[in-house]
Amino acid sequence: MKRAIALYSGGLDSTLVIALMKRAGVDVLPINFTSPFGSTHGLAGDDKKAAMISETFGLTLRQEPIDDELVALVKSPRFGWGKHLNPCIDCHLLMIRKTKALLQELQADFVVTGEVLGQRPMSQHRQALAIIAKKSELEGRLLRPLSAKLLTPTLPETEGWVSQENLLDISGRGRKRQLALAKEMGVETFLPPAGGCLLTDAGYSRKLKDLLAEDMITSRNCGLIRFGRYFNLGNKAKLVVARNEQECLSLEGQARPNDLLFYPEDGRGPTAVLRGSQLANHIEKAASIVAHYCRHTPKPEITVQAITAGERSRLRPPTLPEAELRALLIS
Ligand code: SF4
Repeated sequence: MKRAIALYSGGLDSTLVIALMKRAGVDVLPINFTSPFGSTHGLAGDDKKAAMISETFGLTLRQEPIDDELVALVKSPRFGWGKHLNPCIDCHLLMIRKTKALLQELQADFVVTGEVLGQRPMSQHRQALAIIAKKSELEGRLLRPLSAKLLTPTLPETEGWVSQENLLDISGRGRKRQLALAKEMGVETFLPPAGGCLLTDAGYSRKLKDLLAEDMITSRNCGLIRFGRYFNLGNKAKLVVARNEQECLSLEGQARPNDLLFYPEDGRGPTAVLRGSQLANHIEKAASIVAHYCRHTPKPEITVQAITAGERSRLRPPTLPEAELRALLIS
């Protein structure tokens, strides 16, 4: 029996690929890569859902973090960014290379992905698929079953490891044929279509571009800005303000000892994290912004607490004019 590692997101295409490989009698090992931007082609949390879906096939999903490597690619992608700050070709290449490195350890013969020719503008046109296969040095062992009949044949096809009935000629963005195939094969559980990870999100990319401009892109900072409203206070001072209770908890979890954590003293407003530079004017502005988003109407003078490394200070910040606040808000 041949064994394949499947790059798995939990979406329709990669779930179909698992079903096809199982039908072909291939032993499938699904893998999913995680980063501060989400998981293989999905958002944060999709990796957990993907793990649950792979269990319906009796398979255990292997999860591998690629945080720092993907962050480095975001800063300077060899094949450029997509519509936002998504370096999709480089990212695919990274994931395929990582998977290739596991072939020997897992005693697998080839790699399968749910890529479909022409489905995604940046990473799934013919040239991009060829670049990924060539640069990963996996050419003959990288099978895209959904579009295989439209691409150069690979070893699993020429050697008969996967029969023709389990290979297709799907191309383009539509999902009709995949949905029909899912029905035919009894595949009912898969994640709804996603545009990709957070790097394909316009709002998130605006925040990231701001970090990039000040050379502040790190894995930790990319994680912090997933939440809340994001302000540039100047001179490498970044403020993130929670929009709801869930984000207050998430931000507290993201805060590091060097950050300044802000709360309104009476608890009637958001938590905020100031990261980077903490000059007196940054701290005052941050407290004013926290006060701005407090729930009081009309607003009295609000006391905001600022905490760092166990030290607590109390501030009565001035009101920040709306126009000034808007000018500092990135997203
Ligand atoms: S959307 Fe692009 S950058 Fe994000 S995980 Fe998918 S390939 Fe990687």
